[in-house]
Order: sequence, then C-alpha cells, then structure tokens
Amino acid sequence: MEIMMSAQLEEIYRQVQSKNPGEGEFHQAVQEVLHSLGPVLTRYPEFSELRIIERICEPERQFIFRVPWQDDQGRVQINRGFRVGFNSALGPYKGGIRFHPSVSLGIIKFLGFEQIFKNALTGMSIGGGKGGSDFDPKGKSNHEIMRFCQSFMTGLARHLGEHTDVPAGDIGVGGREIGYLFGQYKRLTNRYELGVLTGKGVGWGGSRVRTEATGYGTVYFMREMLKARRDTLEGKICLVSGSGNVAIYIIEKLQQLGAKVIACSDSNGVIVHEQGIDLSLVKRLKEVERRRIADYAHYHPNARYVAGGNIWEIPCQIAFPAATQNEIQENDALMLIRNGCVAVGEGANMPTTPEGVHQFLQAGLAYGPSKAANGGGVATSAMEMQQNASRDFWSFEFTEKKLEEIMIRIHDSVSETAEEFGVPGNYVVGANIHGFLKVARAMEAHGLI
Ligand code: NDP
Repeated sequence: MEIMMSAQLEEIYRQVQSKNPGEGEFHQAVQEVLHSLGPVLTRYPEFSELRIIERICEPERQFIFRVPWQDDQGRVQINRGFRVGFNSALGPYKGGIRFHPSVSLGIIKFLGFEQIFKNALTGMSIGGGKGGSDFDPKGKSNHEIMRFCQSFMTGLARHLGEHTDVPAGDIGVGGREIGYLFGQYKRLTNRYELGVLTGKGVGWGGSRVRTEATGYGTVYFMREMLKARRDTLEGKICLVSGSGNVAIYIIEKLQQLGAKVIACSDSNGVIVHEQGIDLSLVKRLKEVERRRIADYAHYHPNARYVAGGNIWEIPCQIAFPAATQNEIQENDALMLIRNGCVAVGEGANMPTTPEGVHQFLQAGLAYGPSKAANGGGVATSAMEMQQNASRDFWSFEFTEKKLEEIMIRIHDSVSETAEEFGVPGNYVVGANIHGFLKVARAMEAHGLI
C-alpha cells in the first residue's frame, strides 16, 4: 500500500525509524497515526512549531529489568520485564501488562503509543503506557505464575503509584495475575493502594464489568457503526478470533444482542460451530480449566476443529479480531470482503496490517480500528480507579450503562471528527485526529516538559 505523507511527516517518521531500529510494530503504529495528521498540521501550525508530534513519538520514560524466578524443579529462570510510560499529558500512565514469549521493547512501545490516543478518546483522565514480559505462562503451574508475578512486581513497584503509573491486564495477564501482582505491591510498599492496579477481583477493589468491558465495549462500538448505516446486529453471522478475555465477552454481548458467532480460535487452531458457539463451554475450557480450544470439539459432535486453520477463510458478515497484532493480513482482508463481510470491529490491538486496513476502507466496510473500538476496557479501568478513590462500589447495571454511554460517545466523537476533516465514515482518521488533538492541547498547555 502506498502511504502518502507530507515531507515534514515523512521526516518525522524517518527519524522514528532510525532512532528505534528493529521495532517494526512500533514503526507501524506511528506511521498509521502520522498518516492521518497532515490536515491537522495545516489547520494548527502551532503544533509543528512546538514539535508536539516528535515529542509524542518519544516515550517519557522506559524501563527494562531482569525478572529472575525459580520453577517447580528448583531451576533458576530469567525473563525480561518492560514498562514504558509513554505520555502523561492527560493523566497517570495507564495500560496493560502482557506476558507472552513474543514480547519485546518494540511490541510494548507499539502498544503504549496506541494507548495514548485510545485513552484520550475515552474522555477520562488517563495517560498512555504499557508493560510486559517475554515470560510464557502456558504450561506453568499456579505456583510458578505466582513466583513470577512476585518477582516481576519487585522490579516494577518503585515506578508505580495510583497517581503515577497504573497497570492492568493484557494477553496472559488476567484476574489471577493481577491478584499476585497486587499482593506483592502491597507487601513491598506497606500500603493498601487500591488505585495502583486495575482488573482487580470484585470483592477486593475490582470494578464490576471490568472483566467484560473490552469485549462488551467492542460490540457496542460495532452496534453504533451499524446504526449509522441503518443496520443492526440482529441475526448477523460473526467470527471472533481468539478465545481469551476479549473474545469471550465479545461473543457474550453478540449473543445477547441477537447475533450468531460461528467460530473462535486460539494460537493452535480454529473451532467452527455452525449452530453457534457454546459460550459456557468456552468459558469453562479457557477461564476455569485453562485448556486448548481443540477440546471444544470433544463436547460437540457438530463442531469442527481445524488445527492451524485460518479463521478468516470462513464466510461471515462481521469479523471481530480479538487475539493479537497483525492477525489480519491483506489476503485475509480480501478473503473476508469476497465472502460478504460488511463490518470489522477490532477487539485486539492493531490486529490488521496497513495493507489489510487499506482494503477494508477501499471496499467501504464499516471498519472500527482498535484505538476506538476496544477502548471500553481501559475506560472501565478508569471507572475502577474512580470507585477506588471514593471507596465506592457500583452495581453491574450502573457500570455497564456508563460503559455503553462511553462507547457511544467515542463512536460519535470519532465519526464527527472524520466528517469535520472531510472523510465521513473513516473511523481511522477520526480516531487518530480526535485522540491527537486532546493530547496535543494538553501538552501545549503544560509547556515544554
Ligand atoms: P488473553 O490472553 O485473555 O487471550 C488471548 C487470545 O488470543 C488467546 O486465545 C490466545 O491463544 C490468542 N493469541 C494470543 N497471541 C496469539 C498469537 N500470536 N497468535 C494466535 N493467537 C494468539 O488476552 P486478551 O483477550 O486480554 O487480549 C487479546 C487482545 O486484546 C490483545 O491484542 C490485547 O492487547 C487486546 N486488548 C485487551 C484488553 C483487555 O482488557 N484485556 C484491552 C484492550 C485490548 P493462546 O491461548 O493459544 O495463546
């Protein structure tokens, strides 16, 4: 795909590439945002003078630390921990922690960079950050997970704080891991500082709906995109990749709103179940027993498991990538379009390559980029911080209503910005410009820091 940028933006991008060698995903995330910003610089030349874009592309701070731990055989294991505080113009650094063997500084920086704009779009007072480790939780015992989380937090705790940096979960980090991380933070700091982590257990400071929020929010965003096209989710045939936290709650909300999900996956393969995915079974396999999605087929003779399969080959009307970055390549996008897909809602972060995005936009699909579509998770994290600060605990209905309102607001502001900048229906440009303007104005107000 040919990316056209002004000479000024080209130069900024070239510098990002040369200052951050080998960080392909970070370059991709930066390029995607820069590509939308030409008209903003024309309209607001002061941002060029203040070099706001160059400053946003440079993390405020980044830590890499050793995470030593002992496995169940008593052997010493060593992993690498990362935390990037990317931008605090709107609030404390906020963003998840990912445990996956593919984690590197470049991956954390791409996620942290995206997080700046996503968090700005929520309208809450949160800056952008991200962290993680190349630790692989697969096949580890509960004790190993606990020891690893304790060592990870020992390295990280001194950099955190409810007004400084507030991590949450991401791939490989769910309620169990947040519990161990919080326990160690409490022990190290001698403080019961609830607001230092989000995604906590309901019952000890967690917010209702946080577990469901990213998935539910993505579906609400999709509902709004369809509404703008006078369409609904009712009866739509959907694919949802992955079978983790985000995927499970996308499926749940889709089923509640009358859509039919016929396939989901994990990193080993795809389950196709034309009668509709049995969500209680997926929850049991993944959330309770921590098994592979292949086992789903043992319980449903009508379901088909395709080892190493590509979920995007299955004909559908709506696709929800909810596993990982760059999982939809150009060919997958073309296949989805050929098979009649009319809309894509990104639950995962940056799951579509730039070439894939180009195809979706060219074909006129309703395409909801992750920055806008999956912001419900972090928005509910901010609500968790709000409840912690006021020592309050909201009901499920109240919290979900607020989440729904936030997703509608994100949709409408992104859509209005796209229209204002002459690209109606282009949620990519709308999200990038709207998020950027909020951060840029705050940075301008705070002076050169
Ligand atoms: P989980 O760890 O709960 O689930 C991840 C799912 O995706 C699993 O089914 C996993 O399969 C699959 N997966 C992960 N990596 C790969 C890969 N390289 N190839 C194929 N499949 C893969 O994570 P989440 O559901 O929390 O996160 C999913 C996505 O959503 C990520 O992009 C994350 O950044 C994004 N996100 C998450 C938020 C949250 O609140 N949790 C908020 C906003 C975005 P397997 O088990 O086989 O690895």
